[in-house]
Amino acid sequence: MLQLRDSNGPATVIRRADYSAPAFWIDSVHLSFDLDPAKTRVLNKMTLRRNPDVPVQPLRLDGETLNLARVLVNGQGASFKLESGKLVLENLPLEGAFALEIFTTCEPLKNTSLSGLYVSNDSFFTQCEAEGFRRITYFLDRPDVMASYTVTLRADKQKYPVLLSNGNLVASGALEGTGNEGRHFATWVDPHKKPCYLFALVAGQLVCREQRIASRAGKAHLLQVYVRPGDMDKTEHAMNSLIHSVIWDEARFGLPLDLERFMIVATSDFNMGAMENKGLNIFNTKYVLANQSTATDADFSNIESVVGHEYFHNWTGNRITCRDWFQLSLKEGLTVFRDQEFSMDLCLEASARAVKRIEDVRVLRTAQFPEDAGPMAHPVRPDSYIEINNFYTVTIYEKGAEVVRMMQTLVGSLNDPTGRAGFAKGMTLYFARHDGSAVTCDDFAQAIADANPDSALSRLLPRFKRWYSQAGTPRLHAKGSYDAAAQTYTLHLNQTCAATPGQEAKEPFVIPVSLGLVSRSGADLPLQLRDGSASTSASHLLVVTQAEESITFINVAEEPVPSILRGFSAPVLLDFDYSDAQLMTLLAFDPDPFNRWEAGQRLALRCATALIAGEAILTGARPLNDDYVEAMRAVLRHPALDAAFKELVLTLPSETYIAEQLDVVDPQRIHAVREAMRAQLASALATDWQWAFEAHADNGAYRPDSLSAGRRALAGLALTQLCLAAQSSGDPSTGSGQAGVWPGKAYQRFKDADNMTDRLHALSALVNSGHELAKPALAQFHSLFKNEELVLDKWFALQAGSCDRGGQVLPAVRQLLKHPDFNLRNPNRARSVIFSYCSANPGAFHRLDAAGYVFWSERVLELDSINPQVAARLARALDRWSKLAEPYRSSARQAIERVADKANLSNDVREVVSRALAD
Ligand SMILES: [Zn+2]
Repeated sequence: MLQLRDSNGPATVIRRADYSAPAFWIDSVHLSFDLDPAKTRVLNKMTLRRNPDVPVQPLRLDGETLNLARVLVNGQGASFKLESGKLVLENLPLEGAFALEIFTTCEPLKNTSLSGLYVSNDSFFTQCEAEGFRRITYFLDRPDVMASYTVTLRADKQKYPVLLSNGNLVASGALEGTGNEGRHFATWVDPHKKPCYLFALVAGQLVCREQRIASRAGKAHLLQVYVRPGDMDKTEHAMNSLIHSVIWDEARFGLPLDLERFMIVATSDFNMGAMENKGLNIFNTKYVLANQSTATDADFSNIESVVGHEYFHNWTGNRITCRDWFQLSLKEGLTVFRDQEFSMDLCLEASARAVKRIEDVRVLRTAQFPEDAGPMAHPVRPDSYIEINNFYTVTIYEKGAEVVRMMQTLVGSLNDPTGRAGFAKGMTLYFARHDGSAVTCDDFAQAIADANPDSALSRLLPRFKRWYSQAGTPRLHAKGSYDAAAQTYTLHLNQTCAATPGQEAKEPFVIPVSLGLVSRSGADLPLQLRDGSASTSASHLLVVTQAEESITFINVAEEPVPSILRGFSAPVLLDFDYSDAQLMTLLAFDPDPFNRWEAGQRLALRCATALIAGEAILTGARPLNDDYVEAMRAVLRHPALDAAFKELVLTLPSETYIAEQLDVVDPQRIHAVREAMRAQLASALATDWQWAFEAHADNGAYRPDSLSAGRRALAGLALTQLCLAAQSSGDPSTGSGQAGVWPGKAYQRFKDADNMTDRLHALSALVNSGHELAKPALAQFHSLFKNEELVLDKWFALQAGSCDRGGQVLPAVRQLLKHPDFNLRNPNRARSVIFSYCSANPGAFHRLDAAGYVFWSERVLELDSINPQVAARLARALDRWSKLAEPYRSSARQAIERVADKANLSNDVREVVSRALAD
């Protein structure tokens, strides 16, 4: 048989169906490191035994980029083979435990992939999830092999005064003997068994903030946040977030901290957000460091949620882990759900909870829905992959969290309408059954259902689990009919789901639909069903299980406006043929804040798509109708709504979201229409924006709480709109009438701001309105913060993501790559320029001359030779190429082909581009 080959050899497809238990278990691991950036020596002494449930076979250990020096079995030299990277040992003892000793070296300084052991700012860090441990030593690098670890680190004391690994420090001190002058050691023992992807070490010049806390049971714990000297003043918020996380997990789920010592270490070179290594979390500095002058409200809130997320993994992920990487959502979907709940529970006001929910859904719909409709679409529990790093996706994380949220909803009952109590019971059963083991998504769902035997989830479990096996976003089509004589209202629902790669036909999903009926005057109507049951709350939970279903409400005194999918009760697309007047009613009155916001989004989308589809010339277009503008004015001036919610309602749907609603995408036309909508809102509501800015600009001493953050967000949007109005009202320097003063005021606010949120809003208002004051403001910003890496990332990102006016952004981006502060090897910096342009600025990226795509292909190839994981993320920027209108479509395809044609592509990038081309 002839096999298709590229220069890498055939890429291996890994399939879930091929899972088999490991042939050996590793009981204990003793690792000793002699840390040296150029050549680190690693001695790995393991105790292994055969798995009696698996036929006798050789031991095959994973390894990558290692130099092997010695292998001993029970202290004796042993014969071994190296087969396609694996270390293969035959003739091992058939019975009982045996000792295996492997001595290797690796080169941390040369490791630019940031997977395995690497050097950042003269310190050592590790990243082992998913398959980085095999770059440290030969091992059974799979999550279902859990072992006890003892780790000794040896290094130069002056260069690396701090030596950390998982667990507890049991010994440390100076090393004796010749050749050891100035060197010291530390030995750590982890009391918990763990898979190797949770191993970590850190060595370097670090300082730490410490806090001792006591658990409910009175046990003492030491919490530590390690950072580089000079960053101590930015650690208070991370520490507070950690303390809140510990308290919350014990209060909500009865899960206490199981470690004497819990450490967080920040590094500026990191591929992902953060990593939950047992007891030694390693974080991207972006999710640790914050104070009011360097971090925005969004940064503060992200830090709280990421610190929470990694901490919650200590139980969901670490105590119970994944059997194999296809089960990634077992830990990630669940832990995202937990961090979302944590952030919501920390909100004091109900309105702030609703705002958080809207923000989460916005992420899901702008990032996950396109993924689910594109070439990389995959189920929450995938069936196959080539490179597991490509499956750390919004589907596994965010859609996975929605699946868990639906489970909570579906275990609700009359006494527990939200399902919170039932879900907590399910979690308790999950830990009772599986603590200390490596399990599957099925095991998790079964535990939640079994703990709630009378629930809808328990009844529907096999069908519910289609959410794990079927990719694609279901579409729910709803139609309403009101019978005035009979006073009944019937809602007809049918569901479909488009084909996705490898899945042509789909079975119906179980879809929990929370719905209410809103009267003309805006009140929730009482809900009574034909069978005599009445909902005790204003919303009814309809669990759709069939392709087609209907539900009839009786004693409905007037024709209602249905409010469907309240709180976004399921991750689906909803079609309902609302009239404008019905949407206006929901926007003005819906007691469900999510659907109230959604009504405004639907109205805006309707104006946008009508104009995009037409032939009209867009210069000076006024896409928004008067009713919409008046409704926005009413929201902005509303006396009872809070500022954060207003800001969300008054923010138009993004270009990416608009594009997803269309069959054929002309990115320039979408950009032009959305800009026209922004300009129209800016000028039509000018006096209201002015009021909004003045009423919300001053917030006293800075605090990153949700209430004042909402006020700053609204003031920021108002300032942006005012600068835009000044710009479109004529001469940018003088403007006409009152409008012309706003760029000057924005510049003043930029200079005077006592916090990063207000300062960045003001700078962004100037940059995005194209005002000439943007230039001096950018220069001042740079000189103020030239020593703050994370702030410089904002400076780069703001420029690369700025509004395009006649194609000036791409040349500016090319210039930024030559800036002395640009560094392609640092993922945060690469993302701040390249991703901000290619993935987050569609109006500037999709150019008629295809220069944006050329830039993209150059950067993907350049990054691939440095860091394949980051390159593969960037490669996804053209996932949706096949929806583009010509000439964008053909030139995008050519750019993808240019990447695919390159010899020696990483598996990461090859998988992404070949799937894109198959679309
Ligand atoms: Zn996670």
